[in-house]
Amino acid sequence: MTTRMHIAMLSIHSSPLGKLGARDTGGMSVYVRELGRRLGEKGHRVDIFTARTIPEKQHSLWLAEGVRLIHIGESLADSNEGFADGVIDWNTLASWIEQFRLAQEIGYSLIHSNYWLSGVLGVQLATTWNCPHVMTFHTLAHAKKESSAGHEEHEQRLAAEKNLTQNCTTVLAPTRIELNRLFGINGKKTTRIRMLGCGVDLERFRPLPSVEENFAKNSIDLLFVGRFDAMKGLPDLLQSLAFLKRENIELCLGLIGGDGTGSPVWHELSHQAEALELADNVVFYGRVAHELLPKYYNSATVVVLPSHYESFGLVTLEALACGIPVAATRVGIAADVIIPGVNGYLAEPQEPESLAKAIISTLTLAAVTSSSKIRQTVGGYGWQNVADELEGVYYNNLNTFHI
Ligand code: UDP
Repeated sequence: MTTRMHIAMLSIHSSPLGKLGARDTGGMSVYVRELGRRLGEKGHRVDIFTARTIPEKQHSLWLAEGVRLIHIGESLADSNEGFADGVIDWNTLASWIEQFRLAQEIGYSLIHSNYWLSGVLGVQLATTWNCPHVMTFHTLAHAKKESSAGHEEHEQRLAAEKNLTQNCTTVLAPTRIELNRLFGINGKKTTRIRMLGCGVDLERFRPLPSVEENFAKNSIDLLFVGRFDAMKGLPDLLQSLAFLKRENIELCLGLIGGDGTGSPVWHELSHQAEALELADNVVFYGRVAHELLPKYYNSATVVVLPSHYESFGLVTLEALACGIPVAATRVGIAADVIIPGVNGYLAEPQEPESLAKAIISTLTLAAVTSSSKIRQTVGGYGWQNVADELEGVYYNNLNTFHI
């Protein structure tokens, strides 16, 4: 079957046009944007629904051919607190989308929900529309609870995750670790839960050999890129730097992302850096636009990712696609894609000394390898491949749902 599909993509709590690196905007926004665009290129229609304000308070805008971003009304749920606590009026959101669908006379082929908040909404809509419901969690509360002692999660979210693994027609797991975790949450193995990784824009993220393009070749020893979330393990990274400094190895660390100078996390990290006598070793770049990131990656000797947990971890792929080796904790895609001695080294999560050793090994590797060798290790991870596979998953859902 090669029919043209009309997909309702739910990305309620985070807009694909949000500021990457901010609290609620990271890999998921890139995923929705990239896959939406590529499904559009394949001739499908994609309506992405978000409750986050979109630029210029437009009600909807075209992101690409066949791909619309639709804002579900400002008054409904556009507050951080509401999303964080799961205090969302799903019925109102569902009825808004249904009114929109009726007014536009659309018959959606299927729903693809992103994150549990969208998943709960997706269940309601899939029942009303009698269509398949594909789910990508992006992060799992169950995993965060496991990964961090004392980390509390809402019972409502934990219960919703279980319910969604049991009721969606397909649940997509981005890594092998996440696949097994989802089987555990579901209670048993099932073919409804299957792997589909994330990707990288191999055109955008590539080695930049020329001096003009690469604004400061290797001026940053270590670079971190991401949200300044507790799961990203930044305090561990500062501990690793302090450990190395005690060994007389002094390194410069650049941090990209976060919610700006003055945010509570920025204050905490600055204080920690001062207390560890690392204030001169750490540079805060703030958030950097995705299209400018290749220059920063290319200016680093090593990219370092100290996460306690990642459902995937796009930054790993972006750095490797730029030909920069990665020192990462053994979580998310890093656990699968990092080949020690070839494109980086792995460390145990929450163990600063183990990370310090991985950093030193990766710096040594950077001195003897080439960017093309490193890039080769992610040659199969382009978003186009992911979109091709996702299209197959959608068709499979349609074929089995309507028999
Ligand atoms: N990112 C960005 N600018 C920033 C910080 C992050 O463009 O200042 C992007 C980064 O390149 C990556 C995404 O945000 O594409 C973060 O995704 P990842 O999967 O690494 O982490 P998540 O946010 O999903 O935990």
